[in-house]
Amino acid sequence: MTSYLWSDAGSGYVLLIEAAVRNHVRPTTMILGSDSRKAWSDLDVLIMQAYEMYKREQCQQCFQPRWLCHNEDPKLQVRIKEDRCFIAAEIEKDKAGRKDEDQHGISIYPEPYHLDGLPLHKLRDSYRQQREAELAEAAEDD
Ligand SMILES: [Zn+2]
Repeated sequence: MTSYLWSDAGSGYVLLIEAAVRNHVRPTTMILGSDSRKAWSDLDVLIMQAYEMYKREQCQQCFQPRWLCHNEDPKLQVRIKEDRCFIAAEIEKDKAGRKDEDQHGISIYPEPYHLDGLPLHKLRDSYRQQREAELAEAAEDD
């Protein structure tokens, strides 16, 4: 089961297990919608054991599984990918521009807005389309 949690298909279950832990409910409540008031089942225990092994296998430097990032198989290679956050970029630029100012008591935070006044939640679909195109392009490159 732990191997499955590391797979693309299983990664969604990791999110649900972590949500169960955060909300103090048994894992099958988040995964299957089981009654959260009932005692933990054998399946709940099995899921949490697999999740604990998953966390134990996770490298604390790169968050990948240790069986990948510490594996000496010479055929195992690593590509470095880029993930750019435009809001983090604006915050970094702003901080760089304030270097000489007194920054005591000042915290900066992002306020995204759309030039045409579009409600920001409307951008969720266009981002998904953009992401699908990026993934399709990445698949072509492989
Ligand atoms: Zn690592």
